[in-house]
Amino acid sequence: MRILLVEDERKVASFIARALRENTYAVDVAETGRKALELGADVPYDAILLDVRLPDLSGIEVCRELRQQGIEVPVLMLTARGLVEQRVEGLDAGADDYLTKPFVLAELLARVRALVRRGFHSGNARLSYADLILDRHRRRATRDKETIPLTSREFALLELLLLRAPELITRSEIVEHVWDCHFDSETNLVEVYINRLRQKIDQDRSVKLIHTIRGVGYRLGTPGS
Ligand code: CA
Repeated sequence: MRILLVEDERKVASFIARALRENTYAVDVAETGRKALELGADVPYDAILLDVRLPDLSGIEVCRELRQQGIEVPVLMLTARGLVEQRVEGLDAGADDYLTKPFVLAELLARVRALVRRGFHSGNARLSYADLILDRHRRRATRDKETIPLTSREFALLELLLLRAPELITRSEIVEHVWDCHFDSETNLVEVYINRLRQKIDQDRSVKLIHTIRGVGYRLGTPGS
């Protein structure tokens, strides 16, 4: 899950970003409306949290522009308390929901979960390849109808592999999408997680789905695909 947070107040932005990261979302922060438009057009986010008051374009203009470009990502608008017009304008501009500042973190997280779920309803809640199925809504994986228990990191990694299947995904893309931090590229964290997934998904099965492309990355697919 990757989220774009658009907020120019650094303290607020880092507070929200930290909370989202603790909940295993990957977060990009944009401090201006223009940066938000640039990133929104480039990166397939699962949700955008958009502050109305920004130094250049307003959040409302940003939202309108994203929609005009055909970008359907769910948008949660962060508005000032008491300004009803701002909320109406935001919703008219194509926002899916709004939250008035100041808000309680638990509520923000609940809204984000709801927003991401809503995005799945309109898109692909169920990802599958061969007999492997990932239900993103129920957060459940099965292979040949057998439930596979996954941690949230393993889930995020499998989700990414399935979204790209049967194509290759590079190690650095995995790091960027699943861990969000730019840790030392020499670390073997990706390998560790791939091996855990392999044990859960491929062990004792005749058809292996996770393949290593030596020196480059991994792909999910049947051997000949
Ligand atoms: Ca602001």
